[in-house]
Amino acid sequence: MKLLCTIDFMEIKRYTDERMASTLKIQSCVLETVHRVFREEGFTQIMPVILSTTTDPLGPDPSASTIKKGEIEYLGQKLVLTQSMILHKQMALMGKLSKIFAVSPCIRLETPDRGATGRHLFEFSQVDFELGGAVMADVFGLMEEVLCEVLKDVKTKCHRDLTLLGRSLLVPTIPFKRFTTHELKEKYGDDWEASASKLAKEPFWVLCHEREFYDREDPKRPGHFLDYDLIYPEGFGEALSGGEREWEFDRLVKRITGGGKSTEEYGTYLDLAKKGKLRPSAGGGFGVERLVRFLTGAKHIKQVQLFPRVPGEEVHI
Ligand code: AMP
Ligand code: MG
Repeated sequence: MKLLCTIDFMEIKRYTDERMASTLKIQSCVLETVHRVFREEGFTQIMPVILSTTTDPLGPDPSASTIKKGEIEYLGQKLVLTQSMILHKQMALMGKLSKIFAVSPCIRLETPDRGATGRHLFEFSQVDFELGGAVMADVFGLMEEVLCEVLKDVKTKCHRDLTLLGRSLLVPTIPFKRFTTHELKEKYGDDWEASASKLAKEPFWVLCHEREFYDREDPKRPGHFLDYDLIYPEGFGEALSGGEREWEFDRLVKRITGGGKSTEEYGTYLDLAKKGKLRPSAGGGFGVERLVRFLTGAKHIKQVQLFPRVPGEEVHI
């Protein structure tokens, strides 16, 4: 770990740099547009959850790389810091709301080597959304609209900031291209995401990842999954992960235990599933900082975070 006892010149420059100011103006514009589009599409914004009895396990996704969950003890109860709001999003749809989103802080204690990817932070924010009774096509349409609206707004409202950062942006054509992980693996090998992203000029979808228990396995084609990632072009890599969800108790238990996890830590969530309270849904989450990195063309994601939280680097404030 790089340890610094006092704040150095580069660190002070971060707070005073005009590039950082332009980056933050672009981020502000992104948040405004995201809120506008989600509201126009009938979503209700819910507040993020930071402490819970349980959170997204992030595994057995092979690309997950956290050392451990963040934990605190409060009045004798052990609570974990949110890795993602997926379980709470499913529970939030049990009532009258059928479209929800949150801008949700996530703590993921990533391994130090992730600091070098240019894409990983150990604290970041996600726009996390879920639609009751929806299927993946609904998410594709929504997310394509969100991204195109963000690009249009940033291009027009933040023209000067983009010029200062030396970045020009294209609004992609809708619908975005779709591939499966199987075809991309065959073409580019295991590192398909980096290669395909580098070669792409526009964002694209990648379907069918075997990962966390809550992403639905295709009942008609076991071993295939009704989930997806959105990938940015120009080598910026993954933008969003999401999926249609599992909601039935028996299937959830099978997926949790099949992935080598114990059902114990999912007590209340599984109780609700057993009572038939969870409902079918589809959704996704995209990282705010990753989106701003793509929009600004920053080499490393830490260039867009005012108070950087980079795996392997000491926190100053
Ligand atoms: P996940 O469901 O794990 O794919 O996370 C959802 C989204 O959050 C990803 O597609 C990224 O945009 C963002 N994200 C995930 N992990 C990180 C990280 N360590 N640092 C920054 N952004 C992240
Ligand atoms: Mg992902």
